[in-house]
Order: sequence, then structure tokens, then C-alpha cells
Amino acid sequence: MSWINIGILSLISILPRWIVHPFAKAYVAGETIEKTVQVVKRMNQLGYTCTLDILGEHIQSPSKAEKITKDYCSLYEVIDKETLNCNISIKLTHIGLELDEKLVENNFQMILRQADSHNNFLRIDMENSPYTQKTIDLYQKNIHNYEKIGIVLQAYLKRSLEDAQALNAPGFNTRICKGIYNEPSNIAFKEKIEIQDNFFLITKEILSGEGFAAIATHDIPLIDRIESWIEQNNISNDRFEFQVLYGVPMGFKLKRLLSKGYTVRQYIPFGPDWFDYSLRRLKENPKIISYVLANLFKR
Ligand SMILES: Cc1cc2nc3c(=O)[nH]c(=O)nc-3n(C[C@H](O)[C@H](O)[C@H](O)COP(=O)(O)OP(=O)(O)OC[C@H]3O[C@@H](n4cnc5c(N)ncnc54)[C@H](O)[C@@H]3O)c2cc1C
Repeated sequence: MSWINIGILSLISILPRWIVHPFAKAYVAGETIEKTVQVVKRMNQLGYTCTLDILGEHIQSPSKAEKITKDYCSLYEVIDKETLNCNISIKLTHIGLELDEKLVENNFQMILRQADSHNNFLRIDMENSPYTQKTIDLYQKNIHNYEKIGIVLQAYLKRSLEDAQALNAPGFNTRICKGIYNEPSNIAFKEKIEIQDNFFLITKEILSGEGFAAIATHDIPLIDRIESWIEQNNISNDRFEFQVLYGVPMGFKLKRLLSKGYTVRQYIPFGPDWFDYSLRRLKENPKIISYVLANLFKR
């Protein structure tokens, strides 16, 4: 971590929330569902599909995990009522993964039943490596009950290509991202080029088989590389989509993807836990500080 990043991180941790809020605002839809609905509507009008995520993770009490589960269930109702082009992504530690296996399974199935009754999709975000296998297991246990579920494979994990090979089948829907957590080098690639190559290999693996690939990255050279391969191999548009985090500047790239008829999805986090969540992310991956600052100046 650079000394500048260490300094900024310590400063952010002690600053009042109202000072930090304008910086986080670009990346978080808001604290309330009302504000978030407005953001999703605006994104839909611009041609993007969306995914909503209630900020938070590592819940330590069963009653809080149940409350978040209920919030996710009501979110499907709001999406339907407001006719939003939008689905949902959850983190399993937000609904009790660290507490009790039965609790997380019940909560997960409650959200799945709600997704089913609204004919909508549910994706499980991938958290750090102690949860990788547990996440895949829960996905595999439930995919037979409701097929509109997806998971995430992280290109920095050395195991992910094999996971892709094992899971790839009709109906398999995975987001591919680089991975945000700080993982040890015995299980994770550390060099940018290795991660990009693995991302490309996993995407090719999914699209050469019968799965659906959600290509989640802001790395424009990597997107270009995947786009060329997709075009050379005549991969049909309904086999993949591109995904980005709300607020990350991409120049004209997203408009160009939309103009080619590709689906582009904005991942939009919201909720009252924005401050703690942003701090945890920054502590885990301080390079985001440099991105945020660079992007602020570009604006
Ligand atoms: C839709 C979506 C869902 C994700 N879900 C998960 C998940 O479930 N599990 C997981 O571990 N990770 C997830 N991630 C995060 C991902 O793993 C990467 O850490 C993150 O996207 C940065 O990597 P990159 O591919 O954009 O490439 P990088 O090489 O890191 O970034 C490329 C460029 O994008 C810009 N940029 C990237 N990230 C940011 C940012 N946060 N703020 C400002 N600018 C930025 C910078 O300009 C940078 O130069 C997700 C990412 C996306 C887009």
C-alpha cells in the first residue's frame, strides 16, 4: 500500500460521514429505496439493465440476517411494482453464512421463492476464499429447485477455471470478475496479466460450452479482447452480457457496447451501510483509493 493511500485511508476513517458522503455518492445509489428506484429508472431509460445490492456483509446476529432477507424479498416487489429492468445480487455472509448453515439456507431459499414468484433472477456475489466452496455448494444444492440463479467466478483464483469447467452446463449463469479481496499467492494470481489471461480463459470456457457469461470488468483492453473473440466466434448476444459498477467512468465504451446490441448491466449498491462498507472495501483493496481520486479528477 502506498504511503499516500495509507494517509488517505486513515483520514477517511476519522472524517465525519457528511464529508466523505460526496465522494461515495458517485458509487452508491443512495441510502433509501426511493432514491435507488430513481437511479434504476434513469439507467433503464439510458438502455442499461441493472442489478441491485443492499450494502452490507458479515452479519453477526440471526435477527439482522432475517431482516436483510425480508428487505431483499420486498425489493423484488418494488422491482415489479415499478416495472424496473432489474434483478438482485446478494452476499451470503449478509444473510447469515457466518452464523449457521441452516439459517443461511432458509434465508437463501426464502429469497429464491420470492425471485421465483416474481419471475426474476438472483445472483450470489462471491466473497473471500473461505466462502468459495460454501457458495458453490449452496448454488448447486438449489439450482434444481429454481433455475434463475447465478454465481460469480473470480479470475484471480487459480481454482476458477476448473470450477468453470465443472459447472458449465445449459442454464449455468456466471458473472466473471477479477476479484476484490486480498488473497494469498498460493491460491491466487497476483500479476495483472495473469488475472486478465485467466479472465479471458474462463469467459472462453463458458461461451464455448453452454453457459451464460456476465463479463464484469472496467478493464477496456480486456473487454476489447473478449469482444473480438466473441465476434470471431459468432457467439450469440443472448449468451453473454457486460456488467459494470455504477459510477465507474468508462468513457464512450458502454454506449458503444449498447449500440452493438449487447446487454450492459449496471451493478448498483445502496443502503444505510454505505460508509462502513466503503471503508472495508478500501482497507481490503487500497488501490481503489487511487481509482476514485483519478476518476474524481477526470470528472
Ligand atoms: C458488476 C460487478 C460485480 C462484481 N462482483 C464481484 C464479486 O461478486 N466478487 C468480487 O470479488 N469482486 C466483484 N467485483 C469487483 C471486481 O472483482 C474487481 O475488483 C473490480 O471490478 C476492479 O477490477 P476491473 O476488472 O475493473 O479491472 P482493474 O484493472 O482493477 O480496473 C480497470 C479500471 O477500472 C477503473 N476502476 C475499477 N474499479 C474501480 C472502482 N471501484 N472505482 C473506480 N474506478 C474503478 C479504474 O480506472 C481502473 O484503471 C465486481 C465488479 C463488477 C464490475
